Amino acid sequence: MRVAIIGGGVIGLTTAYALINKGHQVDVYEQNDDVGMATSFANGGQLSYRYVTPLADAGVPWQALGWMMKKDSPLRFRPRMSLEQWHWCWQFLQACRTAVNQANTAHLLRLALHSQSVLHHWQAQGGLNDFGWRANGKMVIYRQQQAFKHAASKITASSPQQVLSAQECVAAEPSLAHLAPQLQGGIFSPGDEVGDCYLFCQQLLQQLNAHPNFTLHSSHTVDKLMLEQGKVRGLKVTHTQDSQTHQVDVEHLVVAAGMGSKEILNSVGIKVPLYPLKGYSLTLPVTDNSTVPHTNVTDYDRKIVYARLKDQLRVAAMVDIGQTTTALDAGRIASLRQQAKLSFPHAGDYQEATAWAGLRPATPQGTPLLGRSGVNNLWLNLGHGSLGFTLACGSADCLAQLIDNEPTAIALTGLQR
Ligand SMILES: Cc1cc2nc3c(=O)[nH]c(=O)nc-3n(C[C@H](O)[C@H](O)[C@H](O)COP(=O)(O)OP(=O)(O)OC[C@H]3O[C@@H](n4cnc5c(N)ncnc54)[C@H](O)[C@@H]3O)c2cc1C
Repeated sequence: MRVAIIGGGVIGLTTAYALINKGHQVDVYEQNDDVGMATSFANGGQLSYRYVTPLADAGVPWQALGWMMKKDSPLRFRPRMSLEQWHWCWQFLQACRTAVNQANTAHLLRLALHSQSVLHHWQAQGGLNDFGWRANGKMVIYRQQQAFKHAASKITASSPQQVLSAQECVAAEPSLAHLAPQLQGGIFSPGDEVGDCYLFCQQLLQQLNAHPNFTLHSSHTVDKLMLEQGKVRGLKVTHTQDSQTHQVDVEHLVVAAGMGSKEILNSVGIKVPLYPLKGYSLTLPVTDNSTVPHTNVTDYDRKIVYARLKDQLRVAAMVDIGQTTTALDAGRIASLRQQAKLSFPHAGDYQEATAWAGLRPATPQGTPLLGRSGVNNLWLNLGHGSLGFTLACGSADCLAQLIDNEPTAIALTGLQR
């Protein structure tokens, strides 16, 4: 079969890889001149297989009210005169109910664990091992007793996760010594991993380019889908360098265009509840190996993640609701730099840090939309929000199975439109 994919981010490229592995002919359309340049570029780098709780959680609306008063808060809400924003926020509030949150966490966990086994399987095939990947575990640290107790109460005896006291956190991750007086404890997930998402995209592309059935159409923006008799027959595509427009025929089409998916699907009347949750990251050169975290660290109270990627430290954080561009906000970047420096003062050269902003393509529930769109040959792989790198391989594997009309490796309950 011939499958066209819109989007050359981590979701589109893993989808291409899964389909090529199954013998299909694949064309990827990407508006930028390179792959992995949008939200997949400088994200937190965490392959967070065990820690997948969606943002929509019971305490979050109340916490958010408190945070709104603070300049350096992890979450910032800018109200807009937009029905779309209010509708999304209303659905988000519905998803904060404990039972809904628990169900969505279970759906995400199922997909995350499948993703991990698919990534390992692909790595065993060769060619996907040089993207700063390490199985280094993840430690979520807590500064407040109540939040720590709540998190610890969820860890059952059969869980591979471990509840650690403050001293045990520092013993396992000595770079936390500086924070020891403020720590209540932590939850350690030994099976979690880390990698550079952009380098992963580049490695996927290298593998794909070596395949005769693969073509990347970079600098090609898909403007519109052409629907005929209940099927997508073609794409209207503009070459971004010379603005030439042409039409291409498609047999099957996967929309994996991150935040761009919404507009593309709108062109055929398909509404998806995607909203951009803007976040920021800093990437700084490591100057002292002994003071940089080797495990992935999530500072629960500050909502900041730290990941060591080769000789760099990646610091990522913040959710800005109501901002639709990737423009850097100097105040947010300064605040992130200051908070990171307070926690890991000697981990790297903060003056040399490269700042970045990206738009998480988020559904209100935090769960992606995989599979059928309602139009026969049109497939969805989008809405991975804060977990796109983590969930990419499993999502791609399941979608390829659906396109081949095979049973999926995991149940897709709660993960479909
Ligand atoms: C600050 C921050 C930290 C994060 N940290 C983590 C983390 O630690 N772990 C994790 O798992 N996830 C993390 N994420 C989330 C993760 O980065 C995203 O979920 C993931 O990158 C989404 O991938 P994607 O391929 O769907 O989107 P993108 O990477 O945005 O790719 C979509 C592609 O589609 C292209 N496109 C769009 N419209 C069109 C069109 N009309 N025609 C042609 N091409 C088009 C775009 O140019 C883009 O290249 C983080 C996100 C942010 C912002």
